Amino acid sequence: MTIPTEPIGSLPRPLPLIHAIAAANGDARDPALQAMYDEAIRDTVTRFEATGSPVITDGEQRKYHNFWTYCVHGLSNIAPDGFKIPFAAGHTRRMPRLTSGPFRYKVYADQYLEFAMRYAHVPVKQAVISPSALSLMYPAEGIAGYSREEFITDLLREHENEIRRCLQLGAHKVQIDFTEGRLAIKIDPTGELLNSFIDLNNLALSRFTPEERRRIGVHTCPGGDRDSTHSADVDYAELLPSLFELKAGNFYVALAGEDDRARVLRIIRDFIKPDQRVFVGVIAPIDQRMESPEEVRDRVLEAAKYIPLEQLGTTDDCGFSPFCDDTSTTRETAFEKIRARVLGTQLAGAVLGGS
Ligand SMILES: [Zn+2]
Repeated sequence: MTIPTEPIGSLPRPLPLIHAIAAANGDARDPALQAMYDEAIRDTVTRFEATGSPVITDGEQRKYHNFWTYCVHGLSNIAPDGFKIPFAAGHTRRMPRLTSGPFRYKVYADQYLEFAMRYAHVPVKQAVISPSALSLMYPAEGIAGYSREEFITDLLREHENEIRRCLQLGAHKVQIDFTEGRLAIKIDPTGELLNSFIDLNNLALSRFTPEERRRIGVHTCPGGDRDSTHSADVDYAELLPSLFELKAGNFYVALAGEDDRARVLRIIRDFIKPDQRVFVGVIAPIDQRMESPEEVRDRVLEAAKYIPLEQLGTTDDCGFSPFCDDTSTTRETAFEKIRARVLGTQLAGAVLGGS
């Protein structure tokens, strides 16, 4: 039997590209860089397919400069001093602040998908950022002449538009990155912020038909940057019951890095809806140690004790380089780990099919 397996999205960029971006003073739209981006994506697609992964991505090579703000980078109505994401290793990542309305995306992710599909021979999925993450761009003190309500209306329209463009182009799945879900509980232990995120994202998801939602997924993780996390200390029990309230057909849940996987699997079993599939993380991108296919197989078999097979899939815990300048993992290591995921999932499928 075949157990579905999918990546999350990002891969480390080639070092020459990272250095060239730095040399261009961080202006990733410098025309001189475009040939390097093109080559990075072609190389990513080729090597991704060589891992045997039945579904690939473009490695988010052109998502400048991260998975969170790619769609707004370069807008004239933003300032750099927005929301801060603190990582356990001590560093922070910062997102832009909106300074005036109206809010529009500068880039829709389907342009990345279109380019990757030119070279791919297998299905390609596309990750997009959630409305809840982008909602943090609107300042707490408000914007004169542009209310929060107007902002949310614009935000939901842009997000819906981006997903529709990716679906129409033929994305295998469109995955909404929701890393701020677990972080929300750390910021606001009452759970109110998380609830507002769930409600906002459901406003967007409600615009899609059940059939469309079967191709839409949500990714949750404790963050992954420079081998560090932002919310691994938040108990999944605080997040997962709300997570499965999202009106999506697929969930990509970081699990390999959890201390007590069985407990998390029990929570998933108790809260997943019959029309939802969970792709459990069987590879830890921020762990330098290489997982073996046999180890992955055993993790899948463990998950299969709790999750019905028709609702189970596997994934990596997170992207391998959500921020474009992260050099903590090499491309070689990332592809090797993906290969272990694919092989281990196949091994588990053979065991489960034969029993
Ligand atoms: Zn992630």
